[in-house]
Amino acid sequence: MNFRHFDFHAKITAGIKACKYETPTPIQEKAIPAILDGRDILGLAQTGTGKTAAFVLPILQRTLKGPRGKVCTLIVAPTRELAEQINSDITKLARQTGLRSLAIYGGVGKPAQARKLRAGVEIVVACPGRLLDHLRDKTFNLAKVEHLVLDEADHMFDMGFLPDIRRILKFLPAKRQTLLFSATMPDEIRHLAEEILDNPVRVQIAHSRPTVTVSQLLYSVDQNRKTDLLKEIMAKTVMPSTLIFTRTKYRAQSLANQLQKAGYRATSLQGNLSQQKRQQALNGFRRGEFKVLVATDIAARGIDVSGISHVINFDVPDTVDAYTHRIGRTGRAACTGEAFTFASIEDRKIIKQIEKVMGEKLVMCNGLDMCEAYQDRTPQAVKPAKKSWHKTKTNKRSGHNSSMPAFREVAVSNNNRQQKKSARKSKASSKQNRNHRAALMIDGAGKLFFNP
Ligand code: AMP
Repeated sequence: MNFRHFDFHAKITAGIKACKYETPTPIQEKAIPAILDGRDILGLAQTGTGKTAAFVLPILQRTLKGPRGKVCTLIVAPTRELAEQINSDITKLARQTGLRSLAIYGGVGKPAQARKLRAGVEIVVACPGRLLDHLRDKTFNLAKVEHLVLDEADHMFDMGFLPDIRRILKFLPAKRQTLLFSATMPDEIRHLAEEILDNPVRVQIAHSRPTVTVSQLLYSVDQNRKTDLLKEIMAKTVMPSTLIFTRTKYRAQSLANQLQKAGYRATSLQGNLSQQKRQQALNGFRRGEFKVLVATDIAARGIDVSGISHVINFDVPDTVDAYTHRIGRTGRAACTGEAFTFASIEDRKIIKQIEKVMGEKLVMCNGLDMCEAYQDRTPQAVKPAKKSWHKTKTNKRSGHNSSMPAFREVAVSNNNRQQKKSARKSKASSKQNRNHRAALMIDGAGKLFFNP
């Protein structure tokens, strides 16, 4: 299928071309015709699937015929970054249409937003709190809204926004088209969907995408050795653009500071920063001024930065959904990426759940320390990367040319140290000793093997 199939107006087709979209993504194939038909949508999809264009394009088509200067589309998003992201996608796709959109969120001045709203826009992308402020101030009204989009509804619920959403709904006309997108479907979102959607078309995109383009490696490491492991990996790996996730704001900031001190161009994105600082961090990362961005899940939600080569789960996330969200930040747009997860013994349970959903065991690497719990695991083959982020280099030890990622030398050096030590101590080669000494390696063809 290609975009001609949807019969978009030439001004919209120009936007699609400008974005260099050639073929619709699966969610676009399914959602666009239904939205063009005026149907409500319940979309189960996460960021990275092309869901923004899946709702923006048909809304633009329907809005083209409508009046100008009145807000006829309202898109509600949980974070400022996501609101900016959606607004920027709209600006690109709608560049020839003359339709105007505006992102409104807290942390920046209200008067400037109010002025722009009064000047007249057709599409508003808003975070719930600031939107309610404007509605209460009567800066603008939602009486003419025909299309409502609730994006990342599960995150809105996580962030405690559902009461605000219900308040916003009271400002909207009952007769409208409603599109609700969520990566997961907790009960609260299911109830909300049942209340506000009218006979919706259900569009579901499975969670399989990241595993196709992202090689996932599991490092078993004690909590207190994570920073050492990270630095060692970073010193030995070509990592053009790395997104690191930590559990808390404090850990994000502190890790970014440690990396800066170690000479890396690193910054953090977390809720303690002012909006200006958040935007600076994000823009700097996008432009490549920062090679490393350390973020919490909430701060990084929905942001779309292309070309991320590595995602590092410095702390294992609490849920499988958060894991797929995180690793989906790399391996986008036909590139491959690598996701490294630092797991300690207490993460065993969630790692098992992740592997269950992924349908395969995560490939395990020796960390600086190898947890007992992972020693007997049988490694699986890594999918060779379509486009490797690593420099081709000669493996001096084996003498053969390989595209072996340099980081795996962590295991090698560890291995050699242990080999020498164990040769001195004893010639015995018990199974347990082999397990300790074995390093997980990847050959030139991308196949996994143990280097005894
Ligand atoms: P989203 O899921 O909306 O965050 O989109 C993820 C990325 O895919 C964004 O960088 C989009 O610009 C890009 N994208 C969306 N639709 C397409 C398409 N049909 N072809 C190629 N890239 C796309």
